[in-house]
Amino acid sequence: MDLDFDAETVAFRDEARAWLRAHVPDPPLPSMDTPRGYEAHRAWERSLSDARLSVVTWPSEYGGRDAPLQQWLVFEEEYYAAGAPARVSQNGISLLAPTMFAHGTPSQLARYLPPMAHADEVWAQAWSEPEAGSDLAALRSRARRVDGGWSLSGQKTWSSRAAYADRGFGLFRTDPSASRHHGLTYFLFDLRASGVTVRPIPQLDGEPGFAEIFLDDVFVPDSDVLGGVGDGWRVAMSTASNERGLSLRSPGRFLAAASRLVSLWRSRGAPQDSADRVADAWIGARAYQLQTFETVTRLRAGGSLGPESSVGKLHWSELDVALHETALDLLGPDGELASPWLDGYLFSLAGPIYAGTNEIQRNIVAERLLGLPKEPRPQPRQPRPEDRQEPRPALEPPEDRPEVGR
Ligand SMILES: Cc1cc2nc3c(=O)[nH]c(=O)nc-3n(C[C@H](O)[C@H](O)[C@H](O)COP(=O)(O)OP(=O)(O)OC[C@H]3O[C@@H](n4cnc5c(N)ncnc54)[C@H](O)[C@@H]3O)c2cc1C
Repeated sequence: MDLDFDAETVAFRDEARAWLRAHVPDPPLPSMDTPRGYEAHRAWERSLSDARLSVVTWPSEYGGRDAPLQQWLVFEEEYYAAGAPARVSQNGISLLAPTMFAHGTPSQLARYLPPMAHADEVWAQAWSEPEAGSDLAALRSRARRVDGGWSLSGQKTWSSRAAYADRGFGLFRTDPSASRHHGLTYFLFDLRASGVTVRPIPQLDGEPGFAEIFLDDVFVPDSDVLGGVGDGWRVAMSTASNERGLSLRSPGRFLAAASRLVSLWRSRGAPQDSADRVADAWIGARAYQLQTFETVTRLRAGGSLGPESSVGKLHWSELDVALHETALDLLGPDGELASPWLDGYLFSLAGPIYAGTNEIQRNIVAERLLGLPKEPRPQPRQPRPEDRQEPRPALEPPEDRPEVGR
């Protein structure tokens, strides 16, 4: 096994490093969950795209440079090491684009990928519903056949960055009589279309990192069905593999964090009682990098991501929490002050939840990789006398939140 990169990859690393050194904003951009920060991030992505660095593995006709996957890994390492801004286009380029490459039509690729690469259209993932998170197949949003396309209705929630995004992608039930995983279709839709209401959800810091999306008879042409009608579950599973595995969280992110942790540990006098935890974080990041090399080798040989991506997701999400906990312990009371470590810690706590919770990943590993017996399907709970019979809250969102779109 040769873990050294070829000359072309080394030259690419040098180019990316030099460009990032010259262009990474200092001071850092304001939070992308604010209107000003969002536009600043969009402008940053455009400059990345102009340098043909926003989507290096994509074909050049869509804004990439046809680079092999290992160059993307190298780019990510350099990107995080340089402390470059979080990617506002992330859910489009990391989740939707790989799904489009696998299932999209040539005209969908030509229409959607170039503006995605240049951040002219930012995409939000509209999957979760109030009663369909882990059990995504319980989703109730519907698509009804109409002249020339479909009419979407329903409610989506926890959609990251949807407060400011341009377009959404999600699953809708096109055949209510089919069983849960069948009769679903994957749609692309305009978040500013007539009938769409986007309601930002403020996070603990008050900024709307998420939004709810209400759809009320939203017209979508046939050309915005991704994959076949009724084939939505299969299409969605290719998005999910990318979300858990390779593209959403590359090793570069954790290698950079682990190396900052080592520096922090040294700056606090290299206390021996935390040496093992610091070393574990560093080893964990390096292990994820090596495991990713194996994944990339497998993909290049024609393999697919598959359920193995759940192992990766468990690893990186738990590593991220442990790494940040170690940093906060090293900082002691200083860790309570607003700092990138505190922000990173708070965000790391979401890692075991988004991209499918870690309990669900453990179920997948148990059933699909280890061949253990399947979990019995949960039965709806029977009402008990002590249950209070209160009416369900209407799906109308509260009045006191700012509204975006129509
Ligand atoms: C930071 C962040 C960003 C997100 N971004 C998006 C986004 O952009 N788009 C989007 O659509 N969604 C997004 N989500 C939502 C996310 O996908 C869901 O929160 C997640 O899938 C869990 O669903 P839920 O919140 O409904 O929890 P539930 O499914 O209600 O789960 C509650 C608890 O029960 C456990 N549980 C449920 N079923 C099982 C089971 N069968 N076996 C064992 N344990 C089980 C879960 O693990 C969890 O601990 C985001 C979430 C976060 C935290």
